[in-house]
Amino acid sequence: MKNYANKKIFVEKLLTWWKKHKRNFPWRETNDPYKIFVAEVLLKKTTSSQVKQIYSQFVETFPTVKDLYTADKEKIIKIIRPLGMYKQRTGQLKSAAEYIIKNFSGKFPTEKQELLEIPGIGEYTANAILSFSAGSLEPLLDRNFIRVIERVFCLKTTKKRAKEDKNFWKFAKSLVEQSGTPYFNYAVLDFAAIICKAKNPKCQICPAKEICCYYSTIDKNKIVYK
Ligand code: SF4
Repeated sequence: MKNYANKKIFVEKLLTWWKKHKRNFPWRETNDPYKIFVAEVLLKKTTSSQVKQIYSQFVETFPTVKDLYTADKEKIIKIIRPLGMYKQRTGQLKSAAEYIIKNFSGKFPTEKQELLEIPGIGEYTANAILSFSAGSLEPLLDRNFIRVIERVFCLKTTKKRAKEDKNFWKFAKSLVEQSGTPYFNYAVLDFAAIICKAKNPKCQICPAKEICCYYSTIDKNKIVYK
């Protein structure tokens, strides 16, 4: 994979944009690994605005791993039902809590390998926990991050899914490291939600359009601005 010269410029442009446009969510205000983990489970396959409506109630009702471990399943379901997939989410939350109670005395581990052993925690969630609880410079490579770097840097994967491509993870990590802050991940997420959207990206007002590979290839007269 080429070493793209515009990484530094892209990172700077994105962080400058984010200072003015960042979205606020309650899970972005904590460095408690348990509460970050809860947010990641709730955020799967649903929208941030839906999770925002129940997240605070959830972490206030079950403020620690132990509270979650001892909680009645029905009580959990009652709160998270509006998100859908509530049985899977409850199962994942309970299994992880049980594992942490039994193997780590209820305290979230701080080593990546240990986090990956917890049921339901994969690379993305482990990176989120390490990034926002300990300041590690880890990438949160999801479909939004992938879409942005595919467009800006014209990256292509040879794998079936870019998320399975180690080169994509490495590239994303290099951007986070270049930025010097794990919050760069939130900047990419917000940028993907507001500007570089899956459909009808707002290229005309995009702070990265001058360096964007995708933008350089499109017919500007045909942009549908919505
Ligand atoms: Fe995305 Fe368009 Fe900006 Fe490129 S110019 S990063 S495609 S919004």
